[in-house]
Amino acid sequence: MLRCEDLIDKVLAYNPQAEVSMLRRAYVFSAKVHKGQTRMSGELYLSHPLEVAGILADLRLDVPAITAGILHDTVEDTDTTTEEISRYFGEEVALLVDGLTKISTMRFPSAEDRQAENIRKMIIAMVHDIRVILIKLADRLHNMRTLEYLSRSKQIRIAQETLDIYTPIAHRLGISIIQHELEDLCLKYLHPNRYGDIAAKNPEKQQEQERHVREIAALLEDKLKEFGIRANPMALPSNLYSIYKKMVSRQAPIERVYDVIRVRLITERSIDCYTALGLIHNLWKPVPGKFEDFIGVARTNQYQSLHTLVMGHKGHPIKFEIMTEAMLRQWERGITTRWMYKKSPRESLEQKTERFAWLRNLLQWQKELLDSREFLTSVKEDLFPDVIYCFTPKGEVRELLKGSTPIDFAFNIHTEIGQKAFSCRVNGRQVALDYVLHNGDTVEIGTSEEQTPKREWLRFAKTPKARARIKEWLRAKEKERSIEVGLAILKSTFEKYRVDTAMLDDETAFQELIHKLGHHDREKFLENVGYGKLTPLLAVEKLLPAREFRRLKKKDEKQRKKEPQESPEVGIQVSGADDIFVHLASCCSPIPGDRIIAFIGNKRGVSVHEIDCPLVPELDVNPERRIEVTWDPETQISRPVRVRVQVMDKPGVLADICSAITAHEANIGKTQVSAVGEKTARCDFEIEVRDRAQLDEILLAIGKTETVISVERVKGIERSKLSTA
Ligand code: MN
Repeated sequence: MLRCEDLIDKVLAYNPQAEVSMLRRAYVFSAKVHKGQTRMSGELYLSHPLEVAGILADLRLDVPAITAGILHDTVEDTDTTTEEISRYFGEEVALLVDGLTKISTMRFPSAEDRQAENIRKMIIAMVHDIRVILIKLADRLHNMRTLEYLSRSKQIRIAQETLDIYTPIAHRLGISIIQHELEDLCLKYLHPNRYGDIAAKNPEKQQEQERHVREIAALLEDKLKEFGIRANPMALPSNLYSIYKKMVSRQAPIERVYDVIRVRLITERSIDCYTALGLIHNLWKPVPGKFEDFIGVARTNQYQSLHTLVMGHKGHPIKFEIMTEAMLRQWERGITTRWMYKKSPRESLEQKTERFAWLRNLLQWQKELLDSREFLTSVKEDLFPDVIYCFTPKGEVRELLKGSTPIDFAFNIHTEIGQKAFSCRVNGRQVALDYVLHNGDTVEIGTSEEQTPKREWLRFAKTPKARARIKEWLRAKEKERSIEVGLAILKSTFEKYRVDTAMLDDETAFQELIHKLGHHDREKFLENVGYGKLTPLLAVEKLLPAREFRRLKKKDEKQRKKEPQESPEVGIQVSGADDIFVHLASCCSPIPGDRIIAFIGNKRGVSVHEIDCPLVPELDVNPERRIEVTWDPETQISRPVRVRVQVMDKPGVLADICSAITAHEANIGKTQVSAVGEKTARCDFEIEVRDRAQLDEILLAIGKTETVISVERVKGIERSKLSTA
């Protein structure tokens, strides 16, 4: 068992200023709370956290990370609380231990292939500090090293989970020394026969390789010297698992895998890598298409080197991997190199920038890097942008966007569940449908046959899928509705022109009619009439003798003139439709800047109301008739609004107010003055304004007029008895 003093020596070797008292205190604390616990191996439980800390020291991590390694199982397996850890060891260590406890207490459902990727991402998304992952990997590594003491079924389960979840994480973070040891241990427990076979043959093959490499090195040596390059060729170590994978994918025996001689060349400077490459290509013939420059363009896990395959030494192809010492370190330790203790803590900004250059290039990360914590948080966010992972009640993992709600989750499972989503429980607790989900939540959706998608869901549905499905459904509903409306409009027009409405129900006759009008689809035709894209008069015209039609039309027009006219251009955009007939309701006369709400009307297209219009509650009984509209910022037209002013009844009052209005470039339509009290009068104006901002200025200017008592915009159904001034 690793002793506390061994651990401290290890840390002091690379970090002479380490605060070793913290490590000692953590050791004493851990020994105390784990007292009496043993591992399956019979060893004291304490040996496990100490070994984990030892692995972290091998990775040269900082003191808080190693301290957290010593304490990593205390909260989960003993009575210790996170608060105690925080009190004795500070917030930083406590946060690390807390992160580890959260991962350990999460129960992963069986790691099916398609789940594994999500679980990996979830683990990374859950932690706020990459060091938590590093400690978790060290923990798993020690558990794998001591797996022999567990039952066979546990060995298989843990090894499979390690291979599905933890080795890919180690790979992603570029920590190949941990990745390879874990992989070999997994192979040992998952395929013991194959492992035994490879492990038995490998040393001999490896020696053979080394012999070849010495010969190749001798051939290279003079050339390298000639160009002043100090380089050190060595046989590339192969981990057993990668040999196993090659044997499986090539369906070949181990001999064939070792057909290729693999050489690693370590140079001093990265420029030397390229020179060495040139020399190699000069000595042996390169295989076309097998050269890769991972120095110029690093792999996503920051692996850097030059790869080339050449022909051949004694009939063997030779694979070269050329890299510098620093690149090798990066390959072995990956992201941990960012956490390694630094000899000079006072790094200049340039040095820091230099150190982080690789990741910055990769992630196009713009922000200034001031501390590595912030930096790694960003790395994490960039690797896994804005996603969360939630469980179904059966333990399946679903990926959602950050900020997603139960509606998103429901549509993620199935469109029908989304459409009928009625209630939701998160981790067993009832929540509203707009509740914001968190990583790791278990979400259970309740459905109801009566439920249908609601327009207001669009307020909080976050994922594109859910939004598209909701809109689709609403649009279909709107279409249905406008078909109904279209039919009603046709009916009433037919009645007005005294055409028999029976033909509307006669499918053949009706189909014939719309054919004559140049249309084919009955529904489409009705829909267009409903939206106001087509006038019902077209149909009437076809059905009546020309003279009769003209007569009735004239009569109808006369009738219509008595009704107030709407401006044909209203400057409203309707989502999902371009040329729907829209009019601004005369009851509240909304103007740009007002919050508006719109409904598909019974007779003519869509009517737009100001949101506080007193008619709105009356109209808003059927949510399916609501339709989303916005002001079109392009359209600049004048719109009438009504303004009521209370004034002192004095001569010249009206002139003052009128000049206040015209000074702001607004036209005055109708005006009416009525005496209210003995000395006060009420003036009602209809003025034409562009938008709310202009109106507000006018109201302000009127209010400032000396004789004015009050001024307000009049909205609502109260029909003012305006007369032309
Ligand atoms: Mn552990």
